[in-house]
Amino acid sequence: MAITYPLGSKLYINLTNQCNNDCKFCVRKFKDGLGGYKLWLDKEPSVQEVINDLENPEDYKEIVFCGFGEPLMRLNAVKKVAAWLKDNYPEIPLRINTNGLANLVYQRNILPELEELIATMSISLNASTAEQYQEVAQSKYGRKAFEAVIDFIKEAKKYISEVQVSVVTYPGVDVEKCKKIATDLDVKFKIREF
Ligand code: SF4
Repeated sequence: MAITYPLGSKLYINLTNQCNNDCKFCVRKFKDGLGGYKLWLDKEPSVQEVINDLENPEDYKEIVFCGFGEPLMRLNAVKKVAAWLKDNYPEIPLRINTNGLANLVYQRNILPELEELIATMSISLNASTAEQYQEVAQSKYGRKAFEAVIDFIKEAKKYISEVQVSVVTYPGVDVEKCKKIATDLDVKFKIREF
C-alpha cells in the first residue's frame, strides 16, 4: 500500500480511505489505486508513519493531501503533517483535495485551522443543485451536503490563498451551471473527465 506517492512533479499523501460520500464516479469503484500505486490502505498511517514515508519532499513542486478517500476525515493528522512540512520545508506549497464536507463532520468552521498551513484547496463541487449533488455523490448527509459545500467554498476563500472547485463530467451533471456557480463564487473551475 502506498502512503505517499509521486505523480509528475507532485507528491501525494494517502491518509485515509474513509469518505462520507459515495460518488458514482469515484475512482475507488473502478480501480485499486492510481499511477500504479495501490491506495487501499491495510491500516491508516500514523502521523509519524506519514513523515517517515516522505522521501525527499524538496524534490516536488507541491505536496497534496488527497487520500484514496476524503483527507479531512483525518483533520488532526493533516494539521500535524502539514505543520511538520511547514517547519522543515517551508518553501513547498501544500494543497488539500477535499469534498468540502469537513464543517459538517466537525460541526465547526475548520478553515481557520488550515490558514497558516495550506496554500491551495481544491474542492469537489460535483453538481449545481442539491438534488443533483445527492444523485451523483450519494452523501451520508443527504440534501444538506450541497449547501454545506457551497458554504465551505465561501469560507475557504477567506482563509486559503488559492481555492479551486472541480466537477466530473458524469452523466446528469450540468457542467455549465457548475461553471457559473464557480464564476459567481469567484474561484477557479476545473473539469475532470469521467
Ligand atoms: S468524495 Fe471523493 S473519495 Fe469520496 S466518494 Fe466522492 S470521489 Fe470518492
